[in-house]
Amino acid sequence: MIELEHVTKLYGSIPALRDVSLHVPKGQTVGLLGRNGAGKTTALNLMTGYFPPTKGKVRIGGKDMLSDPRACKRMIGYLPERPPLYDEMSVEDYLAFVSELREVVRKANKAHVEEILELCSLTDVRRRIIGHLSKGYRQRVGIAQALCGAPEILILDEPTVGLDPKQTVEMRELIRRLGEGHTVLFSSHILSEVQQLCSRVIILNEGHLVQSIDLKEEKKDTVKLRLRAAIGRDKMLKGLRGLKCVISAEAADSPEEGTAEAVLECRPADERGRATDQIFRLLSEMDAPIRMMTEEKDTLEEIFLRST
Ligand code: ATP
Repeated sequence: MIELEHVTKLYGSIPALRDVSLHVPKGQTVGLLGRNGAGKTTALNLMTGYFPPTKGKVRIGGKDMLSDPRACKRMIGYLPERPPLYDEMSVEDYLAFVSELREVVRKANKAHVEEILELCSLTDVRRRIIGHLSKGYRQRVGIAQALCGAPEILILDEPTVGLDPKQTVEMRELIRRLGEGHTVLFSSHILSEVQQLCSRVIILNEGHLVQSIDLKEEKKDTVKLRLRAAIGRDKMLKGLRGLKCVISAEAADSPEEGTAEAVLECRPADERGRATDQIFRLLSEMDAPIRMMTEEKDTLEEIFLRST
């Protein structure tokens, strides 16, 4: 739905994005992560057609942003870092105004605004002046304006930044709901937020795309295990390394006296059965009681720190 193909963006001579290619598939909620200055806002501004890339192509729904900007922009609702709100207008008048700008047919406009007010839980404040609203409500109005014109794609630049914990939880719930009917791409600094809401995460670092990870991916070729058993370290490693399913076995520090600990990379199963079953059998034959065996999963935090 959103494609960047070998996109480079220079501000004068400063490269903000360098040869970035990415694809956000239809219907997915994708998180864009990166440290300050990584190029997140630049990427979002390119996708929304705010400015063109120095090199490369931006495609939205298969259409080229440069040659068909109107069709592309019609598919996108954008919540920028600072939403363009008219502080002196009421919430409902503002949304009706934005819908009109987005060419919603006048007759349908009222029902359209009603639906957005409902979806963004803004019905209670519909007649309030935007300038008098709390930051949480203002941010929701920012999302509501992005929904005007019923775009298929929502692009949100740090939607929870500056919100208090309750407002943050409410905003995340809103993004989750919006993800049910839209393709959503949002930038964030908060790893747990991305993990909670997204099916994919794209990590930028110093203008490079360094990772694109499927967070829902379940099928894995290898599994990482941490094992502790009451046995000598060298004996344990030798035994483990003799198993066909074990790709590598490295010693780790054990906190328990009289035990050895190892981190293993294994094939989850082979013709001799599951890796964990083979390890149990081996240690039982070696008369070495297992004190712990757990699967080690890379947290998003570890992946993020490694890639940036
Ligand atoms: P943050 O999380 O701090 O908002 P970001 O990941 O969104 O950062 P960008 O705002 O895209 O990063 O900036 C990427 C790089 O481009 C940074 O080095 C920034 O200083 C630089 N940059 C951004 N906008 C401009 C501009 N208008 N002129 C010159 N340099 C810019």
